[in-house]
Amino acid sequence: MLSKISAKSLARRSFSSATKAPKRVVVTGGAGQISYSLLFRIASGQFLGADQPVILNVLDLDFMKDPLSGVQMELHDCAFDTLAEVNATTNQTEAFKDADYIFLVGAKPRGPGMERADLLMDNGKIFVDTGKAINDNASRDAKTIVVGNPANTNALICAHHAKDIPKENFTAMTRLDHNRALTQLALQTDSAVTDIENMVIWGNHSPTMYPDIRGTTVAGKAALDLVDRTWYEDSYIPKVQQRGAEIIQARKLSSAASAGNAALDHMRDWVFGSSEVLSMAVPSEGNPYGVPEGLVFSFPCKVTPGKYEIIPGYDNSDAFSQEKIKATTDELLQERDMVSGLLN
Ligand code: NDP
Repeated sequence: MLSKISAKSLARRSFSSATKAPKRVVVTGGAGQISYSLLFRIASGQFLGADQPVILNVLDLDFMKDPLSGVQMELHDCAFDTLAEVNATTNQTEAFKDADYIFLVGAKPRGPGMERADLLMDNGKIFVDTGKAINDNASRDAKTIVVGNPANTNALICAHHAKDIPKENFTAMTRLDHNRALTQLALQTDSAVTDIENMVIWGNHSPTMYPDIRGTTVAGKAALDLVDRTWYEDSYIPKVQQRGAEIIQARKLSSAASAGNAALDHMRDWVFGSSEVLSMAVPSEGNPYGVPEGLVFSFPCKVTPGKYEIIPGYDNSDAFSQEKIKATTDELLQERDMVSGLLN
């Protein structure tokens, strides 16, 4: 049993909404790079709003307990009006107790010489335990995003082991890919991201993802009429797919702030709704696109407060889309085969 580091209830200054009960938000991998950006934004009200107190439960592994306690100290030192309490813990039971919203950021990074299969197995095992801990402790309608890679398959494993919580409450992040796709198109067409509508990322959060602008508009005009098809296929798609690697090369570190930002976007829109078409990796059960069931797959989604729906009606019958969607589907099927022993 891992030990709790400390849990300090902070006597806060008066909340602007003293009548609202705090919401419990869990972030795993709390001492990591993504969390170092994400936690402070959740604590400051950028997730649930300036009138919603939050209790933050921040989890990491035992060997990270010192850096984790440093993160807790910094959260204390911000004196955020919306932060009711921050608990730093290495105990999953404590972390997920009564959780309302769960950001699963922690995962083992790919080490030198590690194959994708090794990463899948090592992280898959983590997500078996995490799913069980969520099942045994979290609120029955807790909403979860998986950020830690391989995110789609980790979400699948986690949902499988949280047997008493609806599967659709487990999602994985393709919002960073979506945001990257928006900005690259805005740069190419000399427009603002707010001019762009109907962007879609299909499939896996991996280099097989399919950034699809066939139905996208820029200030009301069809995107494909504004850009060269060769640029779309040979520059744009690979750029979005490989953006993570490009950032590592430049920064000598993985993207972190943009990943934290996208996780916040995904969860905030799921809670409050959005008028945009959004990309979310969600369980494929009942999808209208013929993607096999039993995967977590990124689709175009419409979100109303607390609920997402896969948007039907995109025509994927052209050869280019069929090939792209098949490649990312096949990869997810392979990933699922590799971790089949964890899905019993
Ligand atoms: P980061 O905080 O940088 O990344 C965390 C995870 O997010 C990684 O799996 C990373 O995948 C993934 N990720 C997904 N999308 C992106 C993206 N666009 N850009 C970058 N990363 C992305 O990792 P750190 O190593 O700094 O921190 C991880 C922390 O997690 C450590 O403190 C570790 O101890 C902890 N951990 C906690 C667990 C738990 O709480 N149960 C379990 C395992 C680890 P990729 O590596 O492929 O970039």
